[in-house]
Amino acid sequence: MRARHCIRERLSLWLCILLGLLSFPALAGAKIPATCVPGVTLKLSAPESSQGSLLLLEVRSRMPMSDLSGEWNGRNVAFWQATNSQPESKTATGDLRRALLGVDLEKAPGTYPVVVNVRTPSGKPATCTVQIPILKGKFATESLHVEKEFVEPNPEQIQRANEERDRLRAIFDQVTPQKLWTGEFRVPLDGVTTGSNFGKRRILNGQPGSPHSGVDFPAPTGTSVHAAQNGRVVLAQELFFAGNTVVIDHGLGIYTFYGHLSEIDVKVGDDLESGQVLGKVGATGRVTGPHLHWGLTIERARVNPLQLVKLLQKRVQVNSQPSASPGT
Ligand SMILES: [Zn+2]
Repeated sequence: MRARHCIRERLSLWLCILLGLLSFPALAGAKIPATCVPGVTLKLSAPESSQGSLLLLEVRSRMPMSDLSGEWNGRNVAFWQATNSQPESKTATGDLRRALLGVDLEKAPGTYPVVVNVRTPSGKPATCTVQIPILKGKFATESLHVEKEFVEPNPEQIQRANEERDRLRAIFDQVTPQKLWTGEFRVPLDGVTTGSNFGKRRILNGQPGSPHSGVDFPAPTGTSVHAAQNGRVVLAQELFFAGNTVVIDHGLGIYTFYGHLSEIDVKVGDDLESGQVLGKVGATGRVTGPHLHWGLTIERARVNPLQLVKLLQKRVQVNSQPSASPGT
């Protein structure tokens, strides 16, 4: 009871856990669970996060939940169904919902609430809040030399770049309510597990530039670039800074971005399967050499895509129960 109250009163999660340990020995060995209301628990993949990072939020109930919603970073939390919501069947483990919480790479460090609204098994609405500390990201600064036009663009180029930025923002602002992917996300290049430069603060030809919002994978021009997961192509064109670019909508506010391609092999509206080739590595746009620039945006937050690969890998291995439609 005490843990429930402290969450309602918006005390820190750690204080809640400390209080919980005093009153609930069962919480001692568990990883950051917090009781929202009796029978409904919240869990985060980590007790804190940092700029450009991701958290997985889980809401688990013994009984089917209705009217589950949440708010993070001024946006609605897009939950998906992770396990069977039928409580009485022998194979069911209750109703488990998951959601990704993105922390933009320029979000000011501090403590921010995630708010979860749920209707309890008895039908009463309840609101629970967990405070999440966000730390400063550890990003290096680098100096680069690129073609002068990319640092000092002329007025037409500035207008073009601004229009493209606004177009991308409008795309990332839309949330497709369906989850279009299943399972885990993959790195877009075969045989590659890691990339670099995410979040780097850059000095371009001596002038401060915007932080680097994706991961770079150096590779020879012509290397196949694969879709990180199922999704729909929502942009496939040349952009001023990113060169030939493809953006895939995976649903639930999740978008992956593939830049500097030498060749685009898909078009807007195409439904791609995970692993499908969408283009080839190249050196178009603002580059210092051939590479793939891979970005991930979740509810407008620019986050490290390699974290999504890792975060869902673990969950898929741990939890592979088939899901079923609620109410059947
Ligand atoms: Zn890049």
